[in-house]
Amino acid sequence: MAYDKDNIFARILRGEIPATKVYEDDHVLAFEDIAHLAPVHVLVIPKGEYVSWDDFAATGTDAEIAAYVRAIGAIARGQGVAESGYRVVSNCGPHANQEVAHLHAHIFGGRQFGGVRPRDSN
Ligand code: AMP
Repeated sequence: MAYDKDNIFARILRGEIPATKVYEDDHVLAFEDIAHLAPVHVLVIPKGEYVSWDDFAATGTDAEIAAYVRAIGAIARGQGVAESGYRVVSNCGPHANQEVAHLHAHIFGGRQFGGVRPRDSN
């Protein structure tokens, strides 16, 4: 899939749409999700034009990937959830219902999420 320069996160990166920023470095921007699903709900995006996790993993530079992973850890610590725990989710493509076609990772924290598998399933 070609990168759409007018996707909403590209517009946030260009400052055309407001966002509540929580972290920024040379490669990464993080901001509050507009519709929190948890007390802590931050979106972390690379500044480069990557459609998805798949695109980034295949074509991101080592420096960008290292910066992205380290930033997610630093942001979680900065949000005060490193000790209590948190969940990192990146929806990739149609089966994951990825809504915005610029790679983003959700950091969810501040409450109990349970396991990925319902407790009563086999
Ligand atoms: P996903 O379904 O993983 O693609 O998640 C997209 C996320 O982007 C959702 O959680 C939305 O609430 C969030 N979102 C959409 N527009 C904005 C915006 N302008 N500012 C912050 N978060 C947004």
